[in-house]
Amino acid sequence: MYSSTSLLLRCKSRKVAHRPSSLFSRSIHVSTFQSAQWITNSSEVINIPSYNDIFDWETLLNESSKDVDHLKGTGMVADYIPQLAKVDPHQFGATMVTVDGSVFSVGDAQTPFSIQSVSNVFSLMLAMTYVDDDLWTHVGREPSGNPFNSLVQLEYEDGIPRNPFINAGAIVVTDVLQKHCSTSCLLTPHTATTQHIDGASDAVLELLRFHSGNPDISVDEAVATSEKITGHRNYALTHFMASCGNIQNSVDVVLEEYFKQCSISMHCEDLAKAGVLLARQGKDASGQQLLSSKVSKRVQAIMMTCGTYDAAGETAYRIGLPCKSGVGGAVLAIFPRVGAVVAWSPGLDTFGNSVAGVAFLDRLTTRSGFSVF
Ligand code: GLU
Repeated sequence: MYSSTSLLLRCKSRKVAHRPSSLFSRSIHVSTFQSAQWITNSSEVINIPSYNDIFDWETLLNESSKDVDHLKGTGMVADYIPQLAKVDPHQFGATMVTVDGSVFSVGDAQTPFSIQSVSNVFSLMLAMTYVDDDLWTHVGREPSGNPFNSLVQLEYEDGIPRNPFINAGAIVVTDVLQKHCSTSCLLTPHTATTQHIDGASDAVLELLRFHSGNPDISVDEAVATSEKITGHRNYALTHFMASCGNIQNSVDVVLEEYFKQCSISMHCEDLAKAGVLLARQGKDASGQQLLSSKVSKRVQAIMMTCGTYDAAGETAYRIGLPCKSGVGGAVLAIFPRVGAVVAWSPGLDTFGNSVAGVAFLDRLTTRSGFSVF
């Protein structure tokens, strides 16, 4: 057992290396997502049709869903959160929202579920916008190669979590966001409005309400309480990071916000509508840049490399899209410049990813022949 002195000595501060931001300052603005022209070396102009003309999303969704019928109801629900242990694992839903706002759904796509750490995508967007590269002094951006709630790695790495999508990293992002939200009445560039925000979870909630177009989205308080009562590992991770000087608010406040953010309840259609902002490189449907294309690119890169816990390599291999999963059984996947898909089914594999959700996305990209690769 370590004495508090030896523990402190193991927590020397460390900066995570990052490239100068000037290297990233140039961006290409894409003003249309529906069709494009490609000019070949011989100056011949080829008209590329809209992705919605190429893909029959409704059929693709239905067929991919049928492909995974045998997996629906398999896996384990996230019973370490008692409220989530009550969820029927046989449910399955999926929605594709394309960049023009068309919505295609299959199954239980309007059944609300706990979005859990899919919310981290949205808190990361906000934190990266508000504090920019300072964020990377608090958290890294490498795959962890460890379970999402691992304590061991955090101690070896001086209280700096590997990436923003494991629990410790998501908690640090919440902490950074909470600090920003408690010292200022937020101007939220992502919603093109100025509004008062009451803490980190409220910022994420308002962002999701705005981009889904559903003002009724809310926190499921029963899930939040359930997480709080049983969140011993998250308390351990956060206290350890606080002992390393990597938490700026009180541990109780940070975790209250984190548990609320994870307990936001949404269905596939609303979550895919919120996620399509990333497929549009940060633009809304009218072409207004609400999230910088730089942040949009980087968030998707971290989704690709770290978004599905310790199975991110396998997910890239099978699905080939930036994805973020949560232990509520949702997976958000982005087809850049095409659309956002949410697949949801509560039965999880040993890594914490939805068994049927991942298999469905595998079928969808395999059947369509379309991914980022
Ligand atoms: N609230 C969950 C936890 O802290 C989130 C886990 C997840 O979805 O990755 O364990």
